[in-house]
Amino acid sequence: MTKEDDFSKLEKEILSCKKCRLSSSRTHALVGTGSIFKKILIIGEAPGKEEDLHQKAFIGAAGKILDEMLKEAPLKRENVYITNIVKCRPPKNRDPSLDEIHMCENYLIRQIKLIQPQVILTLGRVASKMFFSLIKKPFSSISKMHGKKITFKSSYGEVDLICMYHPAMGLYGDKNKKILLEDMQKHKSFLKKFI
Ligand code: URA
Ligand code: SF4
Repeated sequence: MTKEDDFSKLEKEILSCKKCRLSSSRTHALVGTGSIFKKILIIGEAPGKEEDLHQKAFIGAAGKILDEMLKEAPLKRENVYITNIVKCRPPKNRDPSLDEIHMCENYLIRQIKLIQPQVILTLGRVASKMFFSLIKKPFSSISKMHGKKITFKSSYGEVDLICMYHPAMGLYGDKNKKILLEDMQKHKSFLKKFI
C-alpha cells in the first residue's frame, strides 16, 4: 500500500464515521486540505459552516485571516496540509467537548503518522491544549504559549511545534490581527526551510 492508498482508506473511515454525536448534525466530515507530501501540518479546531458544506479547511472568514498569516511566511496552501482536531462541525460552532475530541483523536494521530510532518502549527486554545496533552508537554494558556516553538519526539523523529492564536481572533480588530501576523513573522526564516 502506498501512502496515498493508506490516506484514502483513512479518509473513507472518517467520512463515514459515527463514533460521536457530531456525526448526526454534520453535513460532511472534513478530513483536511492541501498536500500530504509536504513537511508542514496545520491543525485547527473544527470545521465551521462553510467547511462543513464544502469539505475544505478554512474557507470561511477565519480562512481569509489564515491566508494573510500564510502570506507573511510566505507559505502557499499547496505547500501545507491543514486539518482539525475534530473532523465534524459542532452545532452553532460551539467548542468541541472533551469526549468528542477523544473520540476523534485517533484520526489525527493516523494522519500525522502518514504525513510525518517536520513542523506542526496548532491554531488556537482548543487545538493547542489538545495537542500538548497528546505529546505530554505542559500547556499553561494560549496567551502565554502563542508564538512559541517547542520540539518533541515523535515515532518518526523530532518535530517542531509552533503554537498560534486562532486566526478567527483576527476578525476582532486590527490589534489582534497584528499579533497573529507578528507571530508568523517571527518564524519566517525557520519555516522557509520546510517549503
Ligand atoms: N476554524 C477551524 O478551526 N477550522 C476550520 O477548518 C475552519 C474554521
Ligand atoms: Fe467521527 Fe470525529 Fe466526526 Fe466524531 S467528530 S463523528 S469521531 S469523525
